[in-house]
Amino acid sequence: MTSFTDLGLEDNLLHAITDLGFESPTPIQEKAIPVLLTGVKDFVGLAQTGTGKTAAFGLPLLQLIEANHKYPQALIVCPTRELCIQIHNDFKDFKKYKKQIFTEAVYGGTSITAQIRNIKSGVQIVAATPGRLIDLIERKAIDLHKVKYVVLDEADEMLNMGFRDDIDFILENTVNREATWLFSATMPDDVRAISRNYMNKPVEITIGKKNATNANIEHQYYMTSAHLRFDALKRLIDFNPDLYGIIFTRTKAGAQEVTEKLSKEGYALEPLHGDLSQQQRDRVMRRFRDKSLQLLVATDVAARGIDVDGITHVINYELPDDPEVYTHRSGRTGRAGKTGICLSICHSRELYRIREIEKLIKAPIHKMDFPEAADVCRKKVQSFVQQLLQTETDDEIEGFLHTINSDLALLSAEELLKKIITLQLNPFLESYKNAPDLNVKRIPKEKEIRSRSDENRVRKSDGSFKKLFINLGTKDGFHKLNLLQFVLNESKLRNAEIGKIDLRELNSWIEVDTKNATAMASRINGKKFKGRVIRMNEASHTRK
Ligand code: AMP
Repeated sequence: MTSFTDLGLEDNLLHAITDLGFESPTPIQEKAIPVLLTGVKDFVGLAQTGTGKTAAFGLPLLQLIEANHKYPQALIVCPTRELCIQIHNDFKDFKKYKKQIFTEAVYGGTSITAQIRNIKSGVQIVAATPGRLIDLIERKAIDLHKVKYVVLDEADEMLNMGFRDDIDFILENTVNREATWLFSATMPDDVRAISRNYMNKPVEITIGKKNATNANIEHQYYMTSAHLRFDALKRLIDFNPDLYGIIFTRTKAGAQEVTEKLSKEGYALEPLHGDLSQQQRDRVMRRFRDKSLQLLVATDVAARGIDVDGITHVINYELPDDPEVYTHRSGRTGRAGKTGICLSICHSRELYRIREIEKLIKAPIHKMDFPEAADVCRKKVQSFVQQLLQTETDDEIEGFLHTINSDLALLSAEELLKKIITLQLNPFLESYKNAPDLNVKRIPKEKEIRSRSDENRVRKSDGSFKKLFINLGTKDGFHKLNLLQFVLNESKLRNAEIGKIDLRELNSWIEVDTKNATAMASRINGKKFKGRVIRMNEASHTRK
C-alpha cells in the first residue's frame, strides 16, 4: 500500500497529515499529489466530493508556494460559501507547520472590508466563491498579476449554478497563470469546454467510475401512498433514534412545511433554503454541526457544498426530478470511509424514477417495508432507557431525596420505570396507537414500470430467481461464502441454487431459485442467530 511518505511531500506537511490522523492517501491523493508536485501545468481530476480532493490539491500547493513572497500566488475557486470555508479550514490544518504561509477565504454575505484587509496583509493562497472574487477584482482589491496556480474545485457544480461567465472572467484575469487544476465529479460538455479553452494537454485522472456513487452508502426506498408521505417520514425518523441527517424536499415551501410539522412533534430541526439570510444559514449550519439539531430540512440549492461529518442518513422526502441530483444528495453521507444510508420515500407511480437512479448510480436501491408501529415504540422505549442509564446525576439532587423517598418507597423499581416512561413518552406512544399501515398493498408489475419509463431501464426477470431479504450481514461476522453455507444448512435445502448475494452491514439480499425460495424463507425466518431472531422474507422484486 502506498503511504504519504512515498508521494514526495516535505516533512512539515507529512507531520501535519499525521496529526490529522490520515493513515494512508485516498486514491485521488495517491494519483494526483506526485503529479501536481512536479508543478504540472494543467490537470483535470475527476472525483466525487468526499474523496479527499482538498488534500490532493492543497498539499502540493502548500509545497509549491514561495513562502517568502507575500502576495497571492494561488487561487482556489469553488461554488459555495460552505465549501470555501471548508477548504480554508482544511488548509489551516495542512499548513500547521508552515506558519509562513497565509490563506484567506473570500465569499459573499459577509463584510468585504475585513477580507480586503486580510488579502492586503500578504496572503499567498485565496479560496473564493466566484461572485465575491469578481467583486474584489473589480474593486482592484486583489492583485492577480502574480497568481501562478488556479484551482477550479467542483467545476461541474459551479457551471450548474450559472457561474460560467464568472469562471471565464477569472481565468482571463489571471494573465500570468502557469497552472490550471480542475476538479469535477462529472465531465459534462461545458466543463470539457473549460479544459479545451484554458488548458494545454492536461493530465487527466479519473477516480472510480464517472457518476458512480460511494460504495459506503446503502440505498433504500419505501413505497407509500402520496397522502401518507409525512407519516412515512416520521415513522422512519422515529425508528432510528440515533439518526443525524438531512431531509431533502423539492421546494422551499415543502422544506418549511416539513420543518413546522416535525417541530410540533418535538424534533430538533431547522430548514435550510434560499429564503434565509446568510446569518440565518450560518446559525443553522453551526447548530447542525454541533449536533444541537438532529435534522436539517433542505432544498437542493441550499444544501450544495454542505460537508458535515458523520451524517448517518439522507432522506429523500421527495425524489428529485433529475437522477443526477440524487447522487449529490446521497453524497452528503458515507463520507471519509464512514457508512451511511440514503432513504427515499416514493409512491408507486415514481418507481420508474428509482429504476432510473439505480441505472445512474450503478447500485441497487433496496425496497424496504416500513417498520411496524409496535417496533417503532419498542425502539423508542429502549433508546429512552439507554439515555436514562447514561444520565449523569447531580449531587444536589441527593439533598431533595429524603423528602421524596417516603413517597417513592411504595413503588417497585418496575412500577417506577413504567411511570417514568409513561410520563416521558406517552404522547409519542399514543400517536402510534391506530397508526396506519404505510406499505403500499399493490406494487406495480415490472411491465407497468417499464411502460412508464421511456427506455427499457428495468432489469428483466425470467422468474428463475427470487430475491430474499435476511437481517444478517457483515456485522454478524458473515462474508458471502459463510452466509451461503449458513442459509443452505439452516434451511436443509442443500440443493437450492443461489444467485447473487448482496451483503451489507446489517442486512443482506440473497437470490434463491424460485423453486426453493419460499421454503427457504419460511424455514429460516424466526430461527435464532446468537440470540437474535432471524427475519428472512421475500424482497419485492425478482432479478435474473
Ligand atoms: P474532501 O473530499 O477533501 O472534502 O475530504 C473528505 C473528508 O475526508 C474530509 O473530512 C477529510 O478530512 C477526510 N480525508 C481526506 N483525506 C483523508 C485521508 N487520506 N485519510 C482519511 N481521511 C481523509
